[in-house]
Amino acid sequence: MDIENLKSHVHDIPDFPKEGIVFKDIAPLLASAKARNAATKLLAKPFMNQQVDYVVGMEARGFLFGSLLADVLDAGFVMVRKPNKLPGSLVTQEYQLEYGTDAIEMQLSAIPDGATVLIHDDVLATGGTAAATARLIKKAGGSIIGASFLIELDFLNGRAALDGIDTYAVLHY
Ligand code: 5GP
Repeated sequence: MDIENLKSHVHDIPDFPKEGIVFKDIAPLLASAKARNAATKLLAKPFMNQQVDYVVGMEARGFLFGSLLADVLDAGFVMVRKPNKLPGSLVTQEYQLEYGTDAIEMQLSAIPDGATVLIHDDVLATGGTAAATARLIKKAGGSIIGASFLIELDFLNGRAALDGIDTYAVLHY
């Protein structure tokens, strides 16, 4: 399946979740077995010849392709979640939003010291979420080998926030 066909499975939703924002809706991409499969293969491609111990996916849409990607790469899958969702000993990372701060958490024992980790989320926008995830993984002792996204909003230059991390996206807007 070519890139234009894949893109036809991502729908633009104007004024969601707020006025003035055009939301990229990946629901049609998930709903099509062919498109989902093609997107997963393209996500995995840059990492096929690398040792990936864990894919770390961000709540909530990062869980979807993140676990499909982990399957193809024969890697473990680890969840990064919003506060108060995960049990046990946690690592926490705060990050800046446009107004105020937010935080994400991961289970401390999820990533053994020195394990190789690939970050995954559905969309790279400003890069704030992915940069906070990278700090979380470093705190836990993981070694980041790259970051992969289904969609990159190029005009927001989020990859600048991921300085030094190999960053890939299947679809660019
Ligand atoms: P960032 O932290 O890079 O600004 O935003 C990325 C996070 O917001 C990701 O977790 C992603 O799921 C979500 N996000 C931002 N914009 C969109 C969008 O247009 N579509 C989707 N599906 N998610 C988005």
